[in-house]
Amino acid sequence: MKNYLAERTKVVDASGIRKVFALGATLKDPVNFSIGQPDFDVPDPIKEVAIQAIREGQNRYSQTAGEDSVLEMLRPRVKAETGWNNPQVMLTSGATGGLLLAFMALINPGDEVIIPDPYFVMYKHLVRMLGGKCVFVDCYPDFSLPVEKIAAAVTDKTKLIILNSPNNPSGQVYSAQDLKAVAEIAQKRDIILLSDEIYEMYNYERSQVSAATYYDKTVLLKGFGKSYGITGWRMGYTACSETLKPLMEAMLMIQQYTFVCAPMPFQLALPTAMGYDMSTYVQAYRNKRDLLYEGLKGTFNVRKPIGAFYMFPEKPERYATATDFVKDAIAHNVLIIPGNVFSERDTHFRMCFTTTEDKIRQGVEILCQLAKG
Ligand code: PLP
Repeated sequence: MKNYLAERTKVVDASGIRKVFALGATLKDPVNFSIGQPDFDVPDPIKEVAIQAIREGQNRYSQTAGEDSVLEMLRPRVKAETGWNNPQVMLTSGATGGLLLAFMALINPGDEVIIPDPYFVMYKHLVRMLGGKCVFVDCYPDFSLPVEKIAAAVTDKTKLIILNSPNNPSGQVYSAQDLKAVAEIAQKRDIILLSDEIYEMYNYERSQVSAATYYDKTVLLKGFGKSYGITGWRMGYTACSETLKPLMEAMLMIQQYTFVCAPMPFQLALPTAMGYDMSTYVQAYRNKRDLLYEGLKGTFNVRKPIGAFYMFPEKPERYATATDFVKDAIAHNVLIIPGNVFSERDTHFRMCFTTTEDKIRQGVEILCQLAKG
């Protein structure tokens, strides 16, 4: 048969997370640590505003950048966080929408993108689909920002450095000092930083600092899905300083021909969401993190995550690769994701702890037994 698929489909592979997630659907009552999203439903008052917007006929396109009333709420927030005078803000279809638009507006074939490893899966595949080259910098074993390695990885072709803090999959939160150092490297070589902060609400230890406070050529990627349990609503926003206004204009232009706008009725629920106190939800995940960490630490080589809702332990010694361990775990009804989905290495595995405490206890027991052999 004629090969009708475009070349770009050959540089990517179906998401390893989705594969495990699909497998989960075939198991009976598994312990599911696989997919990265909250297990709580969006609080009722937020839900009600979206339902009301639909009932009131707010179901058409919005402006490309989003509804003015929502953008007017976001601009002062970005200004307070970054110190930027006249922040440029647009609403996107999830943080993913912003990521794709920013990449499409920035990456030429052959451009290099520096990505700290382990990384969120999408970065690698989107960069490759656009003909860019991923330059991975290894962050093992403690997953903090490897400032010197980033400096050494910069070349004349470097277009972008990606930072993701709190981090998926490691749960690491980068220190202000390291972010400042990377911002200085970027500034010296006139490279754009992309700071993916979609887990900002889940930060259990230290106060969050954004790279954007140190460098005005930072693209801020924000999301609402993980914060409010609305991953299916596909809501996010992207912000940058006036210095990067041409980039925002290019992103808006591409949005016109791709997503058109973020989902309208859900945009209208954002002001209510932003005013909602989510601290009890965050506290519940802090407790779950502690429960999981206490259960694993005697048996696994694991770091206590500072943020997000992931843990990234090392595979037990008796398994050659993380993938081998994951296969065994799945055979015992525990869904976890092998590290090679997020990394150029296959030595660790990701656990998302947004499940019940009972399931966490059950999962810990099974994984510890497997590790001991
Ligand atoms: N960035 C990171 C680091 C993520 O982990 C995810 C989702 O898992 C996204 C972006 C995409 O978020 P959204 O669902 O808002 O598109």
